[in-house]
Amino acid sequence: MSTEDAALATFREQIRSWLPEVCPPSLKPGSDTTPSAEDRQAWLEAFAERGYTTPTWPKEYGGGGLSKQEVAVLNEEVTRFGVMPPGVSFFGTVMLGPVLLEFGNEEQKQKHLRDITFGRVQWCQGYSEPGAGSDLAGLQTRAVRDGEQFIVNGSKIWTSMADQADWIFCLVRTDPDAAKHDGISFLLFDLHQPGVTISPIQLISGQSDFCQVFFEDAKAEASNLVGPLNGGWTIAKRLLQHERQTLSGGMPGGESPTPKKGGASEVPAPTSPLAEDARAYLGTEGDRLADPALRDRIAQYELDKLCFGLTLKRNGQEAKAGQGTSAASSMFKLYASEMNKRRGEIQMSTRGAAALGWEGEGFSSNEIMETRGWLRSKGNSIEGGTSEVQLNVIAKRVLGLPD
Ligand SMILES: Cc1cc2nc3c(=O)[nH]c(=O)nc-3n(C[C@H](O)[C@H](O)[C@H](O)COP(=O)(O)OP(=O)(O)OC[C@H]3O[C@@H](n4cnc5c(N)ncnc54)[C@H](O)[C@@H]3O)c2cc1C
Repeated sequence: MSTEDAALATFREQIRSWLPEVCPPSLKPGSDTTPSAEDRQAWLEAFAERGYTTPTWPKEYGGGGLSKQEVAVLNEEVTRFGVMPPGVSFFGTVMLGPVLLEFGNEEQKQKHLRDITFGRVQWCQGYSEPGAGSDLAGLQTRAVRDGEQFIVNGSKIWTSMADQADWIFCLVRTDPDAAKHDGISFLLFDLHQPGVTISPIQLISGQSDFCQVFFEDAKAEASNLVGPLNGGWTIAKRLLQHERQTLSGGMPGGESPTPKKGGASEVPAPTSPLAEDARAYLGTEGDRLADPALRDRIAQYELDKLCFGLTLKRNGQEAKAGQGTSAASSMFKLYASEMNKRRGEIQMSTRGAAALGWEGEGFSSNEIMETRGWLRSKGNSIEGGTSEVQLNVIAKRVLGLPD
């Protein structure tokens, strides 16, 4: 065993004994007690104190300072233990944190990063505006410097979970006379202040995942300007790369293909949750699904998923050896969106009438959840930049094609 493998094996053992020590009994598998808010908080703090809510961030900013391999071990052991890891702000950990680490000054890193790792501040993303979605650089929300503050006026839309957020990272126009990409700044500010109105947008489903956010003379401390004044576009694009990369990692195929279990010399054949699920609805002919056309669609989907997972893994290793996140994240975001929609379509086809339920008796909770998931998947090719926009990025920045 190499020194690296031995160190990983020791790390695995440590995690394996640490998890049951710090997990409150009410959260442990098989518990019949509903976990209290204090127990959930204790679980969160146990992770945050070791930096495991943001395991790859440097330790001095509240991260775990772990390597990618150690993170993989941590994730495997948490999955094995069978308790969901504590959740902290997606917007903070996946989007803002990485750009603060790259572009923020020391004071900003100290002020914001640790709060993100401990889940003390919920963030939201103030990018889209009523007239600026795909054409993001067309944004009109203005910020004008006034002494040690910026005064912000304008409106953002489709701001996911703004009604549950404390702070916003916001693209603002700070030079209306400059060329449109050159007059934008990246500003952070508190949403709990006069002059900020957050209006949830009611969707056809009855849910409300988005808000429209209005700013009327809202105030941002000038010390919360990230990067140079009017230099926000570079940061905005980098944040989108992180967002797109994470969105693709969370969709089918985005997870690593079946990992080798510690010390195992053989990888078990991949299983197909879709095929397993379909058996109950389609029936079988001998060992195989009864419907040959659906059998074929599922097999093709699983093969594509496996290839996608391997390609993502290879890209991750190349990125580690090279420059990190790149415009290639657009390729993965596009493919992951299509894969997730395809998965939903196949599942709806295998379930037939059982896929028609939105709520009510007559449908199992899993059937309702999957139908809702299928409908939600339609948003995958819009959020984080539409599929058409990803195709433009791929054409220009990956393939180098002319405008
Ligand atoms: C689930 C979800 C969550 C979201 N969360 C957030 C959030 O938290 N914060 C936030 O700021 N925004 C958020 N958004 C908004 C999202 O980023 C925008 O909806 C998206 O960028 C598209 O902008 P738009 O809706 O204005 O559409 P438009 O830009 O008006 O586009 C309409 C259509 O025209 C096409 N199109 C536009 N320009 C081109 C072009 N140059 N070439 C080819 N086709 C083009 C588009 O692809 C699309 O099909 C979210 C969206 C969704 C669906």
